[in-house]
Amino acid sequence: MQVEILSHSYEETQLVLKNTNPAFANSLRRIMIAEVPTVAIEAVEITQNDSPLIDEMICHRLGLIPLQSDHIDLVFPQDCDCSQDACDNCAAIYKIDVHNTTNKPMNIYSKHIMPINSAAHQHLPVFDNVIITTINPNSRLSLT
Ligand SMILES: [Zn+2]
Repeated sequence: MQVEILSHSYEETQLVLKNTNPAFANSLRRIMIAEVPTVAIEAVEITQNDSPLIDEMICHRLGLIPLQSDHIDLVFPQDCDCSQDACDNCAAIYKIDVHNTTNKPMNIYSKHIMPINSAAHQHLPVFDNVIITTINPNSRLSLT
């Protein structure tokens, strides 16, 4: 097998595998997906959702937003010594609280995700322009 790296950046690496078969390439792809540590939004508590999307859809979309995962120093909640549901060692906590006071529909983006605890400041969304939903005038989306 021969590997030729075409380009490499912070977000992406392009490479060509030569003298191998698709099964090996797929195995390599699956290992990269499984073994690269990542941080994702897992639990969401919605207090007010006036958007056209149901709560479950909002949660799903939040889970797909890429978060910075350069230095993951979080431990799994089940392995944490804290007696609470979450602490700075085992959870990054965020909130969105957007009230549309304009007279036009308003898009809510990943830039509206606000970090609450210190761990969340280290795992901010990678992109600010990932759309989550839209709310009409005089409507609100509030969640933690
Ligand atoms: Zn903890």
